[in-house]
Amino acid sequence: MEIHIMGSDQRSVRCARVSFGKDEISDPDRDKRLLRYLFVHKHASPFEHNIIAFQASKKEWLAILEKIDNPSVQIYFSGDYIWLNLRNAINASRIIPGEVFEEVKRFFPTTWTIVEKGGKISDDDLSALPYSTDRVFLQEKRVTSSGWIGLVDRLELGTEMDYYTFIVECPLFVARQWHRHRFGSYNEISRRYTAYDIKFYIPEVLRKQARSNKQASVDEGVEEPLQSEFLSEIKGLINRSMDLYEKMTVKEVAKELARGILPQFMKTRYYWTVPRIALDNFITLRIHEGAQKEIREFAEAIKELVGYRETDRKNLL
Ligand SMILES: Cc1cc2nc3c(=O)[nH]c(=O)nc-3n(C[C@H](O)[C@H](O)[C@H](O)COP(=O)(O)OP(=O)(O)OC[C@H]3O[C@@H](n4cnc5c(N)ncnc54)[C@H](O)[C@@H]3O)c2cc1C
Repeated sequence: MEIHIMGSDQRSVRCARVSFGKDEISDPDRDKRLLRYLFVHKHASPFEHNIIAFQASKKEWLAILEKIDNPSVQIYFSGDYIWLNLRNAINASRIIPGEVFEEVKRFFPTTWTIVEKGGKISDDDLSALPYSTDRVFLQEKRVTSSGWIGLVDRLELGTEMDYYTFIVECPLFVARQWHRHRFGSYNEISRRYTAYDIKFYIPEVLRKQARSNKQASVDEGVEEPLQSEFLSEIKGLINRSMDLYEKMTVKEVAKELARGILPQFMKTRYYWTVPRIALDNFITLRIHEGAQKEIREFAEAIKELVGYRETDRKNLL
């Protein structure tokens, strides 16, 4: 049977560590302890960024679905493959074919040992376990006017459920639009947790409000000298808000409250793992001229990185 897997023990760790902006750091012993912590404390979303696909017929898929007694388990069928993520594989391990189960165990040796032991494993025993890692941090990267996007990994079998993992760095208002795309998984930096590397997007040009579309802008800047005056006020406001943020956090105001003073131009960073059909839907909706320029640039960058396959046309709505 053909079995394909995207991810590693380390992939879940990276997606968890983005919470504190430290996803580039790798230390196997600490990583393994973090995996145990995630499992024991049910911080489950980082595991969703690992994807499993195995060859099966639709009939076999339906037979698996028939055995599910947990409505939150999601198992998909596309292009003669059954697709699920590692979180679902953990929750539905009883109903996955043995051969697939063995391959998953081999691919995620630390994760599966922790799962099998119910999280009850000592530091020394953890240390002795094999640990699977990513081959590269990023495969490719594109810079946009407001941030950047990097391709972490892809699992392409020519189906509508092919999977992609990206890292995105963008302003908060772009992230709010992005996260409306629910079919996929996200793990994001936590500004409750860390003041690490706070950065802001400052547009080069302040675009004018569009007259025809109340949501949109036009490609024309506000006239001078207002353009320069507003940009300089924006920079001043950002600096003042950062000063107040730092003053408050030094005096022990919790970051979860102090962050309220930081403007929406602040950048955030997240991992996004998404199936092709939802990715194509994102590209269609966000490349459209009705979408905001900043997110449009990201949709263009995604198209450049992994292409557009029109799979979203299957949906009328
Ligand atoms: C130009 C523009 C302006 C917008 N303005 C606003 C706004 O003013 N306010 C606002 O709240 N949002 C706004 N949105 C967001 C928009 O309503 C969608 O939430 C967003 O585009 C995500 O699209 P989606 O639901 O198709 O994607 P996903 O959530 O990724 O879903 C992918 C596909 O899965 C299916 N699906 C997922 N969840 C469900 C479900 N619960 N039921 C049925 N099918 C489902 C659908 O087929 C869907 O196309 C705007 C979007 C755009 C592009």
